[in-house]
Amino acid sequence: MAKKYVYLFKEGDASMRNLLGGKGANLAEMTNLGLPVPQGFTVSTEACTKYYEDGKKIADEVVEQIYDAMAKTEEIAGKKFGDPENPFLVSVRSGARASMPGMMDTILNLGLNDVAVEGMAKKSGNPRWAYDSYRRFIQMFSDVVMCIDKELFEEQLQAAKDAKGVKMDTELDADDLKEVVKKYKEIYKREMGKEFPQDAKEQLLEAVTAVFRSWDNPRAIVYRRMNDIPASWGTAVNVQAMVFGNMGDDCGTGVAFTRNPSTGEKKLYGEYLMNAQGEDVVAGIRTPQPISHLADQMPEVYEQFATIAQSLEDHYKDMQDMEFTIEGGKLFMLQTRNGKRTAPAALKIAVDLVKEGKLTEEEAILKVEPKQLDSLLHPMFNADALKKAKPIAKGLPASPGAACGMLYFTAEAATEAAANGNKVVLARQETSPEDIEGMYASEGILTARGGMTSHAAVVARGMGTCCVAGCGELRIDENAKTMTTEDGKVYKEGDWISLDGSTGNVYGEAIETQEAQVTGDFATVMGWADSIRRLKVRTNADTPHDAEQAMAFGAEGIGLCRTEHMFFAEDRIAAMREMIVSKTVEQREKALAKLLPMQKEDFKGIYKAMKGNPVTIRFLDPPLHEFLPTDPDDIAALAKEMSLDVDELTGIIEGLHEFNPMLGHRGCRLAVTFPEIAVMQTRAVMEAAIETIEETGYDIVPEIMIPLVGDKKELKYVKDYVVETAEKVMEEKGKKIEYKVGTMIEVPRAAVVADEIAEEAEFFSFGTNDLTQMTFGFSRDDAGKFLDDYYTKKIYESDPFAKLDQDGVGKLVKMAVELGRKTRPDIKLGICGEHGGDPSTVEFCDSIGLNYVSCSPFRVPIARLAAAHAVVKSK
Ligand code: PEP
Ligand code: MG
Repeated sequence: MAKKYVYLFKEGDASMRNLLGGKGANLAEMTNLGLPVPQGFTVSTEACTKYYEDGKKIADEVVEQIYDAMAKTEEIAGKKFGDPENPFLVSVRSGARASMPGMMDTILNLGLNDVAVEGMAKKSGNPRWAYDSYRRFIQMFSDVVMCIDKELFEEQLQAAKDAKGVKMDTELDADDLKEVVKKYKEIYKREMGKEFPQDAKEQLLEAVTAVFRSWDNPRAIVYRRMNDIPASWGTAVNVQAMVFGNMGDDCGTGVAFTRNPSTGEKKLYGEYLMNAQGEDVVAGIRTPQPISHLADQMPEVYEQFATIAQSLEDHYKDMQDMEFTIEGGKLFMLQTRNGKRTAPAALKIAVDLVKEGKLTEEEAILKVEPKQLDSLLHPMFNADALKKAKPIAKGLPASPGAACGMLYFTAEAATEAAANGNKVVLARQETSPEDIEGMYASEGILTARGGMTSHAAVVARGMGTCCVAGCGELRIDENAKTMTTEDGKVYKEGDWISLDGSTGNVYGEAIETQEAQVTGDFATVMGWADSIRRLKVRTNADTPHDAEQAMAFGAEGIGLCRTEHMFFAEDRIAAMREMIVSKTVEQREKALAKLLPMQKEDFKGIYKAMKGNPVTIRFLDPPLHEFLPTDPDDIAALAKEMSLDVDELTGIIEGLHEFNPMLGHRGCRLAVTFPEIAVMQTRAVMEAAIETIEETGYDIVPEIMIPLVGDKKELKYVKDYVVETAEKVMEEKGKKIEYKVGTMIEVPRAAVVADEIAEEAEFFSFGTNDLTQMTFGFSRDDAGKFLDDYYTKKIYESDPFAKLDQDGVGKLVKMAVELGRKTRPDIKLGICGEHGGDPSTVEFCDSIGLNYVSCSPFRVPIARLAAAHAVVKSK
């Protein structure tokens, strides 16, 4: 039998999400539940994948199945495409496995043509509506399917309104719209060189193709990369009988959530517009009514909707986001899905669903995306500073959080400014899917138009970015790059503003922020995660302050303390430079002696902050030239300090130049050349540990980590100095303590000979930043310049420096784990590269049996939750 690519709604169910996409699977499920769903069919994600495999061509067998399903759908509806009496119309919408709001394209009223529009006018007795539907269809089809600039149509519509001297679309009558349709078709013919297609089958195939094509548009690619959605999934296409929310005053359309997606409050939440089609609500062009209003306006419909909403939530055991249309007083469900929500809402809903007995704790933690927590971990406004600030305007609190940044008015400008290291707030009339990259780069998003379910609001909530939407008091002029308040104050590009996404307040100044805390529902969910996870979570921290922050976020140790960061401080760099340019061992030892007490104090501070939790201290790693002076005044000062001639010092500095410092004299190679560095650092580690134990009673077992090892003998050479020094310090202090010496695995060779290295190393920590750099063979510092080409050309789907390349680098890690354990079964294994805080990498680390992951303090809760997800998902 031929492979099945097209499914009627009644042939599917919720379990077929991979094949039918989220929307298709849920339409099928709602059909099975007996809910009022306009019927239709889904073209599967496999058809999309096949379209790309076949060189962007829809196969004949798929076309045949589409026509067949179309005929069956006509039969169910009792209407026919292009019927001059009672024409059948459909919507065509994308629907991938994971919802991608605003990323893909929708076409409504497909099937309309010059004959059908007359039939529709006659049958409904409402020619205005018929022509309005037709003109919308031509516009959408031209824009989405044929990529004709939609401005051309907007201008034409505006011209019709101007000619009549009216402001609103609704003030145009049937004859006006008939004229608009004529003009629209002229635009189409001019732009395409052919007539607007009159054959519904042709329209449908073009539309399905457009949805497939849109899977690969640049904004979809960006969204996929941000959300870890592989290109291979493809999108499904849903073709569904149209129902009309714009047929008169007993019609309408809306979107609603079973709980508040900003706060999680258990209350039907949403908005609707009477006499409108779906895109009017989502586009945020007209400002809709809150859903509670519907209870007064159409009590029966409201009751029915509320009941359905509750039954869907109970069925899916999750907060639902639904779209509905009312046609002639009758309710239809167009979509339901697990709703996107802010992090605080996700936490509250997870906790409430457990309290309500609907979910177990294990199920509930899966309702909170680890990455989402990020928005809770960053600073909030300082309450006192906030009290003193006076808002300049108020909009809708569309996505909570505090944002403070410089104003930019286009996505491009915002992206560029953020890339230059600036904090950015993006202000737009309204956002559109093209703005996605700029929105992602921004601390906060401000729009003048649009409601709580406008594009900006939905996308911002999904990203966990603060958003104030629909701030009509502000005049945002994107061309002039200005924002003007009601009392005439003008803000320009680059001016600082602050947004409070929880109140909707906009401030014309930078407001001080303060650190976040893990309390309430957040703490409850983290408690569940901790009781479930197997992996330990450590942090990368180089200062007592970072260590304390990480402890507050639940870190269970330090997995990486980069000692070099301690030497950049103004009062230390001079001694460091002196150490580097020393010509003799004696000179170097003299300089190191200056560094020793500072380093020791640093370590004591960190041990104290970590209260006896394990601390891994990594010895000096970066290429030394990073510390060298370049400024002539600094060079002169250093020469004086060292009683050297300026020219001589300049010569030494030049001699330290390396063509490829990342692969140069760094890591353990420094200690091989200058063992006295390792000696000083060992002394600092051990003295600090012994003194801290004496002062505090903490149980401290220092872990000394040698970086960039590629050979067992190399490690042994450095380790011998470490052990000798440690023993000496303990003898001097008259106190024996336990300590460990291990290594980073960050040179591919080390992974390959990990069994040999484990003979010397008591622990491994995977330095996946360097391991990625050296496995791919591209520089950490330069890859950013060309990786974008790899994403747009679909060679890579994600940044291998952010999300571990499991097929390549991951294979090395796995191999090293197995080899290491073969030699030393109890070897401690962790990861401390940037990947340690990436949820998908954390799951990988769990699957290969690492003992811990280590990440920056702000990602500790994310890693804790991801580690728990890993356990639940693996069951
Ligand atoms: C690494 O290479 O992954 C690592 C943690 O070390 P650094 O980033 O300091 O090179
Ligand atoms: Mg490294």
